[in-house]
Amino acid sequence: MRGRFWLIGLCVWMVGCAPPRILTTPSPTQTATKTEIVSPTATATGAPSSPAPPTLAPTTVPPTATPNVTFTATPETQPMEINTMLTITVLYDNVAHDARLQTDWGFACLIEGLEQPLLFDTGGNGDILLRNMHALGVDPQTVRTVVLSHAHGDHTGGLATFLAKNPDVAVYLPQSFPANIKETVRRAGAAFVEVSEPTAIVIDAHTTGELGSPIREQALVLETPHGLVVITGCAHPGIAVLVRQARATVAGDVYLVLGGFHLGEASAAQIATTIAELRELGVQHIAPSHCTGDAARRAFAEAFGQDYRESGLGQIFVLGAEK
Ligand SMILES: [Zn+2]
Ligand SMILES: [Zn+2]
Repeated sequence: MRGRFWLIGLCVWMVGCAPPRILTTPSPTQTATKTEIVSPTATATGAPSSPAPPTLAPTTVPPTATPNVTFTATPETQPMEINTMLTITVLYDNVAHDARLQTDWGFACLIEGLEQPLLFDTGGNGDILLRNMHALGVDPQTVRTVVLSHAHGDHTGGLATFLAKNPDVAVYLPQSFPANIKETVRRAGAAFVEVSEPTAIVIDAHTTGELGSPIREQALVLETPHGLVVITGCAHPGIAVLVRQARATVAGDVYLVLGGFHLGEASAAQIATTIAELRELGVQHIAPSHCTGDAARRAFAEAFGQDYRESGLGQIFVLGAEK
């Protein structure tokens, strides 16, 4: 299932994603709420889109699957226990949710409940990232894995400050990343893994590999008893492209797609097409934020109804062990 082909990506270094336009209005309740998404999807008639049964078997990597690594990832062949509870906490976002936290253009989130806490992206400013982590009671020292979606500054700008706090991590970054970011990782003494194709990161967490042109980007794919959770930074290659690749990387229905969808400049027709594509891919729940744009977020909310999940800075998504 995992085609192994090596790509030398274009080395693209740009200032950032589309500049912030309108920051989303803060939600009225500014308390740390947890979005419980474990409740069974109340689809009317046991529709075929019901989540697949929990996947308990370990995923094995083909023997030839040796990514271009300078760090040996945890072997996937060891016996595993499915996480008892998986939580995804949005640590950095321009979309407001929890008033205790500082919004800023960019994205980062923390995944807990895997074998190790995993930080996905670092936002644009490390001081803001660390302050938000502190306010949420997250100890940066507990993080063991950092995954960077793409090279834009609003996703990688916090990296150096985070690594100064905790260099004891493995950083998974697209192979096409500019040399200065790789150097930042090396200089901090952290291990790094250059990703070009679908790769297992830790048990139950995979990368789609880098996709798109000229901005190369990877998405994170989590295996949960509910189905796959796909997390994107900006989705520059297209959110549907990344979700399709996620499904090609790990078998299963897509339970939740979360992150920036890069539709801030999209027309109503483009947004409608994207929604239709995600529907066709069987996406059950959706939680867009960051660069998705207000119009697109409203359209997603309307299209997904009760399966739409408000995201934003400080939002916590909890996935229980049971469906
Ligand atoms: Zn971007
Ligand atoms: Zn971005």
